[in-house]
Amino acid sequence: MSLLWRSQALAGAMNGRPVGAMPEGVTGISIDTRTLKPGDAFFAIKGERFDGHDFATAALKAGAGLLVVAESRLPALGRITAPMIVVPDVMVALEAVGVAARARAKAKIIGVTGSVGKTTTKEALRCALEAVGTVHASPQSFNNHWGVPLTLARMPEDCDYAVFEIGMSNPGEIRQLVKYVRPHIALITAIAPAHLGAFKSIEDIARAKAEIFEGLEPGGHALINRDDRQWKLLDKAARDLGVEHIWSFGEHARATFRLAGCQLGGESSRIVVKMAGQELSLTVGAPGRHMVQNVLAVLGAAYLAGVDVTKAAPALAQFEAERGRGRRYALGHPAGGEIIVIDESYNANPVSMKAALDLLGTASVPPGGRRIAVLGDMLELGVHSRKLHEALAGPIAKSGADIILLGGSEIGALAASLPDEAAAQHRPSADELKPLLMETVRPGDVIMVKSSKSAGFSKLVEALLEKF
Ligand code: ATP
Ligand code: MG
Repeated sequence: MSLLWRSQALAGAMNGRPVGAMPEGVTGISIDTRTLKPGDAFFAIKGERFDGHDFATAALKAGAGLLVVAESRLPALGRITAPMIVVPDVMVALEAVGVAARARAKAKIIGVTGSVGKTTTKEALRCALEAVGTVHASPQSFNNHWGVPLTLARMPEDCDYAVFEIGMSNPGEIRQLVKYVRPHIALITAIAPAHLGAFKSIEDIARAKAEIFEGLEPGGHALINRDDRQWKLLDKAARDLGVEHIWSFGEHARATFRLAGCQLGGESSRIVVKMAGQELSLTVGAPGRHMVQNVLAVLGAAYLAGVDVTKAAPALAQFEAERGRGRRYALGHPAGGEIIVIDESYNANPVSMKAALDLLGTASVPPGGRRIAVLGDMLELGVHSRKLHEALAGPIAKSGADIILLGGSEIGALAASLPDEAAAQHRPSADELKPLLMETVRPGDVIMVKSSKSAGFSKLVEALLEKF
């Protein structure tokens, strides 16, 4: 396996002190012994709950090639004789390696932020770009103060494209992270009242997302959603920062990367996109209008990265939604026939709830089957929580859901606002909803499960996958 970092360059990047017989280099970077691969450098990061230094021995057992440790913790590591790079602060060292990785990279760099759709768009970008070159991208939702530096530090020197998910829960966080990433293209997927707790208004959220433009490389591109209510604010924010190249995607007639035709199917969509003076027809492998939006952003970002989109776009026919973010399972029912489970249990806020209910609405349901919406709490909505839960009544009605199963304390408020109260049943938690769900399911049903992660609705999906 080729080296990611030579030990000397790694120590130099973090201005650290090598101790012991250094290997020639390392093949990867790890901060977690559970996922560490032999030959990785293990950075002993101190988190809120754990201190990596306590896992130094475990890291070596798993095959770490060297350890990066804090000077102050050396006495406690006394008996370890493995090669180490000693630094004042391991987190600062990881950031420095991230900065060094960025400085040596030849890749076109794309930064993705937004309230919803970051991971989905990032993965769709990975899928499209892999058709035309080598791609490095954030794993999962590694989008925070350690996830971004870690992903940067892992970036191979010679990859063609790199895609970084950048997240935030407070103002100022994206500003900091994007300084490391320095994207050539900064993409904002959509703005929604997510993590509203730390913000007074949706405009404040939009302003915080717009911080991504502050880190653009000179001559870089801003790419924003023309259909989003915050489009104007984001456009102005980019202009005020002196960004010269501002583009947009969406259904809007003025969008640069514009949806010109769309056939939404239960399993995939066919779309026509007008961009750069050409018309492109393609299949989007994962269903849903929101997926189409994400793909418009992907095509725009790929184009701005200099890609021949006619070569990249066909790959999107194979794109599948991520686990918990719309992945679809066809399962056999013991009584014969199939049931479809749409797993949206990874996260929920008002905008993604609406997207998921739309998805349920476009699913094809065989005769005898029903649309079942299994919905849990949307968390972190602060004082607006009740109102935002009640407001789901409209999207639910539009989805044509025949049965609505609600679980959780916040979502209870919704039951009374539904036009057809009889179609809904409410239980205080996911656990208490489980038996009801299990006995409700019949052959032909399409079941969409969605809630915030900590409401624990992934357990309901697991239960369905286990039983059917
Ligand atoms: P997180 O902040 O938790 O990392 P994220 O921004 O990465 O979230 P995803 O994980 O891609 O978001 O998607 C979360 C959910 O949002 C999906 O399950 C889907 O319901 C919905 N979603 C995805 N893309 C969009 C979109 N463009 N518009 C609205 N909803 C979307
Ligand atoms: Mg994510």
